[in-house]
Amino acid sequence: MRISPLLMITAAPRTLGYAPRTIMRGSGMRGDTPGTINTIMHSRLTRPVFGRAQTLMTATTVNQLRGFTTRGGASDLPQYSPGAPTFAVVPPGTCQFNDEFVPCKLTKIQRCSSDTSVYSFALPDPSKPLDLPTCGCVLVAGGADAEGNPFVRPYTPVSTNALVGEVDLMVKEYPGGNLSKVFGELKVGDELAFKHIIFNVKKQYSEFPKGAGRTIAMLVGGTGITPMIQALHAILGNPDDDTKVVMLYGSRSSSDILASETMDAWAASSKQLTVKNVLSAEPADSAYDGLRGFIDADLIKSSFPPPEEDPLIFVCGPPPMYNALCGAREDEELSGVLKELGYTKEQVYKF
Ligand SMILES: Cc1cc2nc3c(=O)[nH]c(=O)nc-3n(C[C@H](O)[C@H](O)[C@H](O)COP(=O)(O)OP(=O)(O)OC[C@H]3O[C@@H](n4cnc5c(N)ncnc54)[C@H](O)[C@@H]3O)c2cc1C
Repeated sequence: MRISPLLMITAAPRTLGYAPRTIMRGSGMRGDTPGTINTIMHSRLTRPVFGRAQTLMTATTVNQLRGFTTRGGASDLPQYSPGAPTFAVVPPGTCQFNDEFVPCKLTKIQRCSSDTSVYSFALPDPSKPLDLPTCGCVLVAGGADAEGNPFVRPYTPVSTNALVGEVDLMVKEYPGGNLSKVFGELKVGDELAFKHIIFNVKKQYSEFPKGAGRTIAMLVGGTGITPMIQALHAILGNPDDDTKVVMLYGSRSSSDILASETMDAWAASSKQLTVKNVLSAEPADSAYDGLRGFIDADLIKSSFPPPEEDPLIFVCGPPPMYNALCGAREDEELSGVLKELGYTKEQVYKF
């Protein structure tokens, strides 16, 4: 089942600097069950967004419109914008990548903070989208260890399946990091190898709680924003989904908050999304007047629905964040702050 390159999209305010919104009704929509997702045909819907007129545009136009806005306030660095919320959900099993590594050429690098950039790679089939299942990741191989074997690490694309022929990865460079350092040294035209395996299939949109009164709560640190961007595209891009989303997003300083302008715009326009930034190393004399320190029990308690209201809590961030809030990512059991607050392991999804 393929998505036609013709997409109905809706004009969004250009002043906000993001791309028009694409809405496709398809598998994983409200009312779907995992058992039916392979049999539901994609059709296209549009509805007015922000009260603007609707426009018919091609996927090529969607490709051109994603990109950067200029961050105001604390930093003048150009900032990646994932565009308007875009519902482009496909079921697992349709991804262009499979369990064999294939080389892909880097087409573009765009910086979004002092240590993080968005890397665009050409897909093997330039006429098709990646068709990654919701919140899924890919495995990337590059560089070489002492034995000559490539480093292999997972990355969660920030582009959606509305993007044809390319995939965008937002990658942070760590001092001493093996593959992220390779990313940092890439030049347009260089290649890295990609694959996607069953293990890279994450929580599907069809499994998200839906409807008024239901909440998805997000505990996020740094580039942990990447699977949340995918989840938000699906939730906010579906006009029939009124699930509330509350995100606590930890970063070091205001210039490290990734996609902040877009998150603010999505929160303002959707009325479903609330984002609270928490900064651990913001200079004391800066203009930032939000929360400081680290995400802790008090903040979670005052921001998230209590366990009895059965929220689904997504966690993605650096290892110390998992350890403190929910227990190590590899540990299926729940521990840490979320357990102490009474949440169950069924309510918590570790990306
Ligand atoms: C499902 C999944 C999706 C991911 N998606 C993304 C993504 O979209 N973008 C992205 O940038 N990363 C993402 N990551 C992290 C990524 O896979 C690598 O772990 C990261 O790029 C570091 O790899 P490396 O080879 O450079 O570092 P390594 O060689 O593995 O580590 C070397 C050193 O780097 C530092 N380091 C490495 N990782 C971290 C970390 N998370 N926090 C703090 N210090 C660290 C440590 O000092 C470590 O000792 C994801 C991870 C998972 C599990």
